[in-house]
Amino acid sequence: MKKRIVVLGATGSIGESTMRVARALPEHLEIVGLSGKNNTIALQHLAREFPSAALCTGDEASSDALQAEFPNRVITHGEAGLERLASLPEADLVLIAIVGTAGLKPALSALTAGKDIAVASKEILVMAGEAVTLTARRMNRRVLPVDSEHNAIFQCLENRDPSTVKRLILTCSGGPFRQSSAVELASVTPDQALLHPTWSMGRKITIDSATLFNKGLEMIEAKWLFGIPMEKIDVVIHPQSIVHSMVELVDGSIIAQLSTTDMALPIQFALTYPKRIAGPCAPLDLATLGRLDFEAPRTDCFPAINLARRAGTAGGTLPAVLNAANESAVEAFLSGRISFPEIWEKVEAVMEKVPFIEHPTLDQLVAADSAARDIVGEK
Ligand code: NAD
Ligand code: MG
Repeated sequence: MKKRIVVLGATGSIGESTMRVARALPEHLEIVGLSGKNNTIALQHLAREFPSAALCTGDEASSDALQAEFPNRVITHGEAGLERLASLPEADLVLIAIVGTAGLKPALSALTAGKDIAVASKEILVMAGEAVTLTARRMNRRVLPVDSEHNAIFQCLENRDPSTVKRLILTCSGGPFRQSSAVELASVTPDQALLHPTWSMGRKITIDSATLFNKGLEMIEAKWLFGIPMEKIDVVIHPQSIVHSMVELVDGSIIAQLSTTDMALPIQFALTYPKRIAGPCAPLDLATLGRLDFEAPRTDCFPAINLARRAGTAGGTLPAVLNAANESAVEAFLSGRISFPEIWEKVEAVMEKVPFIEHPTLDQLVAADSAARDIVGEK
């Protein structure tokens, strides 16, 4: 039987890779819902290609325009539209691939409506990992990891007794400035930071990969996805991005997942889980690759990992504050308002300023997120 999939953020980088998987596996996957915020033309093309998909756009004008071309489809817009798409009766699984935290409410709606979710949007787990995982448990639904590291760990952990796991080892490419000095980092431009050495991705995550906040967010994401404390989550730099992550067992064995640098594989595994199917991903040729390198992260020049470890260990509102401050600081950097090192300087300052709540409600998390953004926006 085909799995019926809704893709939130279908016009982005993860969305594009997801469409590649859907085109390659028409006997296994059926696209029943698609959303895109700004790129209506891309959404229109996808709507023509996937004739049974309901649609959600960023605003009313673009949803009206699409409705004129597709009069018999469900076409919605905005936040309410995303939640409606996430709970479509015909859907089995909702992929959340919206950048930032806008996918949080739709993710909770999908779980509450009895759907499994596949999560690319790590920010929603950093902000509200407890709410997402508790809702999934209450509804007896799955939260399937799409992020390549977490998908790798998910594969390494399959059917393993949790008491045999010593630690999770997240691999990290190191980004474009892996070997840059602190002095060089001070004058990095957005164009330089947007050139990732191994992955082609959306703008926000590409900047996060350059500051290493991406890995910091992923440490907190791993804590929630796998129910593992922060002290058992480590990071190793691996410039080739071939070993996607590892699990160390109590006896000293390390289990790793390797594949080419292509998001199609983790996306496919999450969407077709628990099936293993031949898909669009190219095979890995280790002999051609020749070598795999590993080194320790330089946390003195890249404080993001330590800031995230602090936030993930403290819990409460701190991860939401770190995440929102980072998102806002990345926007400020991309628009030329702050320097590259000011991204982590701002995040650290905001973590000190927003009052800490140990057991926040969802509303308190949203308020902490807004407060963090406001402080970054101040002159
Ligand atoms: P992207 O910027 O390429 O695409 C984002 C998508 O979200 C687009 O479809 C856009 O229209 C939609 N969108 C943006 N803001 C929205 C809003 N406020 N409301 C509704 N829709 C909105 O981003 P991406 O690189 O595809 O990343 C998406 C998510 O996946 C991020 O959380 C990122 O961290 C994560 N992720 C991406 C990759 C990758 O290879 N690109 C890998 C791992 C994880
Ligand atoms: Mg990742």
